[in-house]
Amino acid sequence: LAGPFPKGFVEVVRNAGDIAHLLSDYVVLRPSGRRLRGLCPFHQEKTPSFYVDPQSQLFYCFGCQTGGDIFKFVMLYEKVDFREAAEMVARRFGVRLPETPGVAAEPRGRLLEMNRVAEEFFRARLQHSDPGSAPRAYLTRRGLGAAIASRLGLGYAPEGWEVLRSHLLARGFKPEEIVKGGLAVPRASGAGQYDRFRERLMFPIRDAGGRTVAFGGRALGEAEPKYLNSPETPVYVKGHHLYGLDLAREAIRREGFAIVVEGYMDVASLLGAGFDNVVASLGTAFTLAQVRLLARFTDRVTLSYDGDVAGAAATTRSVGLLLGAAFQVRVVDLPGGFDPDEFIRQEGAPAFAALLGGAPEYLEYLIRRELRGREIGRTEEQLKVVEAVLPHLAKLPSAIERAGWAGRLADALGLEDALILQELRVAARSGASRIRQPVQVEPARPLRAAEARLLSLVLTTEDARREVALALEDELVGTRIEPVVSAILDLERAGHPVDAPAVLDALEGEGERELVTQVLFRDEPVEGPGVRECLQALRLRRLARQSREEAAGIARLQTVGLERHSVEIDDRLLRVQELARRRDALS
Ligand SMILES: [Zn+2]
Repeated sequence: LAGPFPKGFVEVVRNAGDIAHLLSDYVVLRPSGRRLRGLCPFHQEKTPSFYVDPQSQLFYCFGCQTGGDIFKFVMLYEKVDFREAAEMVARRFGVRLPETPGVAAEPRGRLLEMNRVAEEFFRARLQHSDPGSAPRAYLTRRGLGAAIASRLGLGYAPEGWEVLRSHLLARGFKPEEIVKGGLAVPRASGAGQYDRFRERLMFPIRDAGGRTVAFGGRALGEAEPKYLNSPETPVYVKGHHLYGLDLAREAIRREGFAIVVEGYMDVASLLGAGFDNVVASLGTAFTLAQVRLLARFTDRVTLSYDGDVAGAAATTRSVGLLLGAAFQVRVVDLPGGFDPDEFIRQEGAPAFAALLGGAPEYLEYLIRRELRGREIGRTEEQLKVVEAVLPHLAKLPSAIERAGWAGRLADALGLEDALILQELRVAARSGASRIRQPVQVEPARPLRAAEARLLSLVLTTEDARREVALALEDELVGTRIEPVVSAILDLERAGHPVDAPAVLDALEGEGERELVTQVLFRDEPVEGPGVRECLQALRLRRLARQSREEAAGIARLQTVGLERHSVEIDDRLLRVQELARRRDALS
């Protein structure tokens, strides 16, 4: 992760930084025993379950199970990558950043520079093409003037197989860099590479800071697919950017909301029509990363997806995430079949402005959409509408709001309020878990007491590590703590100190690091069970699991037919007996 940093830099920053100090910039913390406690910044809560431990230099929330070290906190809170987080901590505690030895040594910088050169190349090709040429004709046909093309940095990838590649090679980029940056593709047979984008209108995809991180190309000939995007590269992760955000961010702050559309052309045409606060999700639905990115600029969104079935489905999926992140969501209800670009070209900007101004709140939109084309006099049709809308109503955190919308739904259907409210109470109950935990990932499999206790002992005492290393049986195989324990034993064998930061650094997976954090924040009694008791509990559990598996295997074989499998069934019965014997011996 820390690859580009000089060796040791991260360690220096870690030692200079203090987690309690830094987190106090973000969270109001009060002493609680040997730790500090406050309201979790990663989920909504009224009683504090967010803890900071100055001794291990870790934080952990018992509410949402988020935890980690100082860098992890900054990554999550500031929505930056590890490198940026390390630099922010360094600046905060006065550690001098390493000198950047020129872009050449830094792969991310090289790729960004290559994208800049490629963008310039595409742009020049567009500017110098004939007014009647395919890209210019396309722009004219779509009503996009030179001013918009220039703001978006539009360009043209010409015909030919190695036009851009030759240009980049001449500018000093290496063949493997060009492939890594997604601008060329290795030939299937033989050596060599060819340009990924050929005969396409090019849209640079920029990050919020205006740096070009990828490209999208729209085919001008018959080529498939119609839209082709850069693959993921070290500077571009799909679903992490919003197209147009670099241009729209000021307008979003000024207008107080963002218009979210599906594609490049929608952004281009809304900009052309004078709507500056527009971004595209570049995909069929919002991702969590995009929601978090947008949350830096506003908490109000108006969705304007295509007015067809796919657009409606994308709207529904996006809304869930946005509402979960406490966004206020409205939806432009485009007449059937239109996308925003077509609508503006046919009906004009004022008509779109009117739709935008009158955009209903999401639930209102949903109710209208569900009522459309139904004979609401019929009971089964009414039921369908209720079933479609209620799960969304149930997610509203406020009971008053829920009741208000239930009344509105009842009105629309011509029903008695009481009936709808009764249904709603049931739906609200079933949706209750989702109300309490917005934007949370599924919790991991719970850690068994014996596993947690054992890991805690191994993390904190040398004796326990020796005992586990000497244990002969493979009690740990298949448990969640196995990779962590073996990493700790490796550290010890290599003569490294075993402390929380060292263990976290030695672990590969995010899940494993979370496990360590979680266990360190459990308050384990000093007089609890020892290593031997934990191992025994794990051994018993493994034997019980094996017995269950054997029994299930026997049951399966019996349903297929006793005669054909009698030998195998006998084998399995013997194994079940042996397992039972070993369990008895243990307990
Ligand atoms: Zn939390």
